[in-house]
Amino acid sequence: MAKIIILGGGIAGVSLAYEIRAKTKTMDHQVILISDSETFHFVPSNPWVAVNWRSPESIKVPLAPYLAKKKIAFVHQAAKRLNPAENSIELADGTEITYDFLAITTGPKLAFDEITGLGPDGFTQSVCHVDHAADAANNWDQFVEDPGPMIVGAAQSASCFGPAYEYAFIAETELRKRKIRHKVPMTYISSEPYIGHLGLGGVGNSKAMLEGVLRDRHINWITNAKIDKVEEGTMFVTEVDQQGGVKKKHKLPFSYSMILPAFKGIDAVQNIDGLVNPRGFIIVDEHQRNPKYHNIFAAGVCIAISPLEVTPVPTGIPKTGYMIESMISATVENIAQMLAGQEPSHTATWNAICLADMGDSGIAFVAMPQIPPRNVTWARQGKWVHTAKVMFEKYHLRKVKTGKTDPILERQLLKMMGINKLE
Ligand SMILES: Cc1cc2nc3c(=O)[nH]c(=O)nc-3n(C[C@H](O)[C@H](O)[C@H](O)COP(=O)(O)OP(=O)(O)OC[C@H]3O[C@@H](n4cnc5c(N)ncnc54)[C@H](O)[C@@H]3O)c2cc1C
Repeated sequence: MAKIIILGGGIAGVSLAYEIRAKTKTMDHQVILISDSETFHFVPSNPWVAVNWRSPESIKVPLAPYLAKKKIAFVHQAAKRLNPAENSIELADGTEITYDFLAITTGPKLAFDEITGLGPDGFTQSVCHVDHAADAANNWDQFVEDPGPMIVGAAQSASCFGPAYEYAFIAETELRKRKIRHKVPMTYISSEPYIGHLGLGGVGNSKAMLEGVLRDRHINWITNAKIDKVEEGTMFVTEVDQQGGVKKKHKLPFSYSMILPAFKGIDAVQNIDGLVNPRGFIIVDEHQRNPKYHNIFAAGVCIAISPLEVTPVPTGIPKTGYMIESMISATVENIAQMLAGQEPSHTATWNAICLADMGDSGIAFVAMPQIPPRNVTWARQGKWVHTAKVMFEKYHLRKVKTGKTDPILERQLLKMMGINKLE
C-alpha cells in the first residue's frame, strides 16, 4: 500500500486528489491532502469579491467533509519544511508526515515584500487570495464614498496579468454603474512590454483588442513599468525603454490601487537543491516529475517554467486553469504508472483557455499550446465571455463538492469558444 500526499488544497490540489483517488480506487493506497486552509477557494472569482459582486463565503468550499466522502484524508496544517531525502514533511505543529509519493500543488507565495509599500500590509490591494479580496472589498466601500485616482496593474516579475486587466475592467464597470466613473481617473501599469503581452508574447490579437478596450473605457496605461516604491497615496514608477534604460520617472497619485505582485515558491521548499529553482518554484520534467526526487511531482502555479522571452522589465509565464488541469491528468497517470512498476510516460498539453471577465462583457484567449509556436491562437471579445466565466465558476465549485467534472457544462463552454476538443 502506498501513501500518496498532495500538498495544497487549491485548484490543482483538489482536482489531483480526486483524480488520483478515482484512478487507484480498486487499490488500497492511502490518499492524503494537506492544506494550510480549511477551505478551497475559487481564486478566479476573487476580482468579483473585491467589488462585492460575490461574498467570500460563496467561493469557499470546506475541504474535510467533501474529501472524506471520497476516502481522501485531510490534514489541516501548513507544511513548514520538506525533507525530500527522507520522504517527509515537517508540519507547522511540529509533527512529521512521511510519503511514498508527493504531489506539490501549493500555488505561489506572493512576493509583496520585493517592493516597499506594496500589498495589503502596505498601501495597495490584492485579489490573489480570497482574504485579500475581502479586505479590498471593505476598502472599496470606503473608496466609492470618496472617489479619486485609481491605479491597477502588475508588478515587475509578475506572471499573472489576466486578473490585472480583468480587475481594471470589473472595477471600471462598477464605477460606471455607480455613476461615479467621471470622478476616477484610471491608469493601468504593467511590467509587460506592451498591452496584451500577458507574459505570453500576446495571444492572437490580444494587443489591439486590449488596447481598444482600455481606450474605450478611458483607462490610460504605462507598460515596461517597474514600481520603485509605494507610499500612502503615491506610487513611484520607472518606465523603461526597449533596452531597459530609464525612459521616464512617474510619481502617480492614487486613492485606490490593486497591483498583482511577483510570485515565488513557498518557504517550505526554498533552497532545496535539485528540487527548486532560485525563486523556489518546483523543477519538473515533461512528466511533471522532479528530475532529482523521482517520487515528487508538482502541478499548478508552484512549478518552474522559464520566461518566454527576455523583456525590458522582467515578466513570467502565467499558469492558467486548463493548463493546470492538463498537468494534473499527466501527474495522475504517471503516479499510477509508477505504482504499477512502470516509468512515467504521460505529458501535459499545457493548452491555455482563459476567460477575462470585463464586468459586462469579456475576452476569451485560446493558446494551444500556451507557449509558442502554437497550433491554435486567438482572442475573442463578447458578452458571452461573461456568461462563460460564471459557468466556469459553477463548474469548478461543483467539481470540488462532487469530485466530478460536468461533461455537459464543459462541452457547453468549449462550444461557446468554438473548440471541439482540447488536443
Ligand atoms: C486573482 C487570480 C485570478 C485568476 N483567474 C484565472 C482565470 O480566470 N482563469 C484561469 O485559467 N486561471 C486564473 N488564474 C490562474 C490560476 O488558475 C490560479 O492561480 C489557481 O488558483 C492556481 O491554482 P493552484 O492550485 O496552483 O494554486 P492555489 O489555488 O493558490 O492553491 C494553493 C493551495 O496550497 C495551499 N498552501 C500554500 N502554502 C501551503 C503550505 N505551506 N502548506 C500547506 N498548504 C499550502 C493554499 O492554501 C492553497 O490551498 C488566476 C490567478 C489569480 C491570482
